[in-house]
Amino acid sequence: MTMERDLYGPDHEAFRKTVRTFLAKEVAPHHERWEKEGVVDREVWRSAGRQGLLGLAVGEEYGGGGTEDFRYSAVLIEEFARAGASGLALSLHNDIVGPYLTRLATEEQKRRWLPGFVSGDIVTAIAMTEPGAGSDLQGIRTTATDQGDHYLLNGAKTFISNGILADLVVVVARTTPEGGSGGQSLLVVERGMDGFERGRNLDKIGQKAQDTAELFFNEVRVPKDNLLGEENHAFTYLMGNLAQERLAIAVGAAAAAEEILDVTTRYVKEREAFGRPLAKLQHIRFEIAEMATEAAVTRTFLDRCITEHSQGRLDAVHASMAKWWATELQKRVVDRCLQLHGGYGYMNEFRVARAFLDGRIQTIYGGTTEIMKEIIGRSLLG
Ligand SMILES: Cc1cc2nc3c(=O)[nH]c(=O)nc-3n(C[C@H](O)[C@H](O)[C@H](O)COP(=O)(O)OP(=O)(O)OC[C@H]3O[C@@H](n4cnc5c(N)ncnc54)[C@H](O)[C@@H]3O)c2cc1C
Repeated sequence: MTMERDLYGPDHEAFRKTVRTFLAKEVAPHHERWEKEGVVDREVWRSAGRQGLLGLAVGEEYGGGGTEDFRYSAVLIEEFARAGASGLALSLHNDIVGPYLTRLATEEQKRRWLPGFVSGDIVTAIAMTEPGAGSDLQGIRTTATDQGDHYLLNGAKTFISNGILADLVVVVARTTPEGGSGGQSLLVVERGMDGFERGRNLDKIGQKAQDTAELFFNEVRVPKDNLLGEENHAFTYLMGNLAQERLAIAVGAAAAAEEILDVTTRYVKEREAFGRPLAKLQHIRFEIAEMATEAAVTRTFLDRCITEHSQGRLDAVHASMAKWWATELQKRVVDRCLQLHGGYGYMNEFRVARAFLDGRIQTIYGGTTEIMKEIIGRSLLG
């Protein structure tokens, strides 16, 4: 039972159907295998491209969807979350890496990268985090030394989503040693560049089909033509794009919580104990009632954030509120729903068990809950 949502029109709902068909045909039949293999098939990226699911915001002249309307992205994220399709990181490609290319790339760079970005021939990743620097991006140690027509890139990144499959990685590197947050730049590192090595596909507790890897850069010659935007401006660019990243994660979190609540509502109606369905016990009813209320309240705020962002008005503070609130809600709901499944909730073959493991990262990546609260606190208290 959900309140009617008024932010989507017929075109968004038609797009939702396309996404659902894609998930049913191209993702669901393979997901279990991908989880075992630790990575999705390369070809599914191209299928996504053929279905128009890549580069929604990329200009039509490069083959993209040509829309800045974030609601299409929100639809895609919701459907992937509801399907539990945690392996194929289309939102990372579209909503997180995409804006760096569409907003900062020169015309020449756009012509080089965007057609492949849209077709699925170029899978992308963004590499900010390092073994010694996650929340505190000012501590980044990867260096790019100016050599005239190119930079020499040295350093290591970790926890990079799409790390194994990525053909193009936006790397945050220090170009001015003493420049603090003002001394970092964004460099595009491409598959095959000498000295660019991938480490292990990391062994995670959830999101098993998603390739998350370490990346190493040893004296990589990155041509100046691969600098994104202006030198030493990375921090400003990152701050500008993180609001969308955080909203995207929040949208997935709310949809995942709703989905698990639906699954659990059905489960407690069917499962019997003490001669009647669990759903007849007051404690269970109150659990479901509380979670449904929290999910509904969250939905209202998030839909407002999606609308604001589609109109280019969502600020970093509200995006941070959406991120920590929705992901913490997801964590709470999934945990309580697992409890309501009893022992079956602990079995991997049950949807709720996967949701528990896949969802746990949500309060950590894209900025932890604590960092979100820091951002909000700073805006209110200085
Ligand atoms: C599956 C996965 C995928 C990821 N994908 C990517 C990716 O594609 N690209 C990328 O660049 N990174 C990625 N990350 C990295 C992720 O963004 C970082 O792990 C995250 O930002 C936290 O950084 P950290 O792990 O270094 O933790 P730390 O920064 O060491 O934090 C440890 C703890 O201290 C808390 N803490 C830190 N500073 C403060 C503070 N000032 N006040 C209060 N508490 C604080 C944190 O909230 C956390 O609880 C991914 C991580 C995972 C696990």
